[in-house]
Amino acid sequence: MNSQLKLSRLDKLNFDNRFARELPGDPETINRRRQVLGACYSSVLPIKAPQPQMVAYSKEAAELLDLTPEDCESDYFTQIFSGTRLAAGMYPYATCYGGHQFGNWAGQLGDGRAINLGEIVNQRGERWVLQLKGAGPTPYSRTADGLAVLRSSVREFLCSEAMFHLGVPTTRALSLILTGDEVIRDMFYTGNPQAEPGAVVCRVAPSFTRFGNFQIFAARRDTGLLQKLLDYTIRTDFPHLGEPSKEVYITWFEEVCRRTAGMIVHWQRVGFVHGVMNTDNMSILGLTIDYGPYGWLENYDPHWTPNTTDAAEHRYRYGNQPQIAFWNLGQLGNAIYPLIEEVEPLQKAMNAYAETFEQGWQNMIAGKLGLNAYKPETDDELTAELITVLQLVETDMTIFYRNLAKLDNRIDPDNSSEEMLMAPIGEAYYVPEQLTGEYKTRMSNWLRRYIKRTQADGMPNEIRQQKMNAFNPKYVLRNYMAQLAIDKAEQGDFSLVNELLELLRHPYDEQPGKEGFAAKRPDWARQRAGCSTLSCSS
Ligand code: AMP
Ligand code: MG
Repeated sequence: MNSQLKLSRLDKLNFDNRFARELPGDPETINRRRQVLGACYSSVLPIKAPQPQMVAYSKEAAELLDLTPEDCESDYFTQIFSGTRLAAGMYPYATCYGGHQFGNWAGQLGDGRAINLGEIVNQRGERWVLQLKGAGPTPYSRTADGLAVLRSSVREFLCSEAMFHLGVPTTRALSLILTGDEVIRDMFYTGNPQAEPGAVVCRVAPSFTRFGNFQIFAARRDTGLLQKLLDYTIRTDFPHLGEPSKEVYITWFEEVCRRTAGMIVHWQRVGFVHGVMNTDNMSILGLTIDYGPYGWLENYDPHWTPNTTDAAEHRYRYGNQPQIAFWNLGQLGNAIYPLIEEVEPLQKAMNAYAETFEQGWQNMIAGKLGLNAYKPETDDELTAELITVLQLVETDMTIFYRNLAKLDNRIDPDNSSEEMLMAPIGEAYYVPEQLTGEYKTRMSNWLRRYIKRTQADGMPNEIRQQKMNAFNPKYVLRNYMAQLAIDKAEQGDFSLVNELLELLRHPYDEQPGKEGFAAKRPDWARQRAGCSTLSCSS
């Protein structure tokens, strides 16, 4: 009786599958790697997992699908979201897209290891696309296997949900399931391939459409299909813009620019470095998408990127993310140009990126510093000095901002010693020997200016602290934490994956007993792979 109930709810998901219904599909049905012309997607079936085993699921993501924890804990769920069985109404397909990788046009890429199961409309009328990552090859798999390993899947699963709870726009992760298969990966590209456990993550988003979905049709001069995809996107994901027309294409592009700017401001706020901001990894909804060799800034270093593939150029470093998003938007603008045939309105729309980013960045700084509002006449300089001082010695960004709130601004800054001023931020330093007299004087002077600035605001100390604690998370998914969870999961112990999932549901709360996860990166993690740098191998 009970199992029948569970079975029926998963089979009653309300699949609508508008993408596949309204857009042209690939007439060829054989699942072999090739260039797919004249189609937005190819129908393809996930492969069956020999022994699917649930590692973790997100109850908040499940709620989006009207699923309860009981549903998620059923064997049937594990079978469905490992790709082993299809639920009623599913219509699996992989989409065709291209993209610029590291600044160069790469031609057709596509969902090489992502298979959409279809879109559901939930009880609130929201549309959610379900997508399996790592459930087997598609026509877009090129030379790769279409699979994913546990290591990268733990990282994607945990970070998607952590970002959501941090308030950063992101795709979501419903579940993380071991397939029971082994997958061969050369983790360091050193010619030492090894077997790793295979896994499948089910991702959830209103749409997974990327800049590259438009770029591929523009590159192929298939303006008809370009227009079909854009009209579909506007009607489905941007219905508030009205019926598609040339004017609406421009307002659509402007909205993509604004959303992208908003997302980047959040990344900069929390210290997230995406690592592979290729145009095929940019969502038209302004969502963080494709969690690969991403990382979290520990010591504040704008030059840092976790991605070893980008070690020479540092194209996708933390400090460059705003510029790269702008460049990527330029590529999207180029792609839709044939539907507009005027440069000026596209350029104007791109100005909206710069404006939105600047405004958002100022609000973000005001939040991080606990100011009423950002005042360029005083705060430009205050911020510039802070950013310089943060880089003089290894300073943990997350701890620094979180602890800055603890500095009591009711003191008299001019009659406070350096020790007293710096005491709250002491934990943020990695190398005590770097704290020279000169450095301490400079930081203390900044803290004095900062106190005076907050005093001028007249905001009560506790209100300032509350504001700051809502902008500056205490808990982020530090790179070494994800790695510890992976190490355990590879031994069959999923407890740390689940503990981190729970911890990161409340990143701004104090969470007594969990302070260890808010401490700075331990020394052993400084050079260990997965903890400081990552390759794209996943
Ligand atoms: P990424 O930059 O990792 O988001 O991936 C770039 C392209 O490579 C996309 O088209 C992916 O679908 C594809 N890809 C990455 N890994 C695999 C894999 N293991 N099998 C097939 N395609 C893959
Ligand atoms: Mg990708």
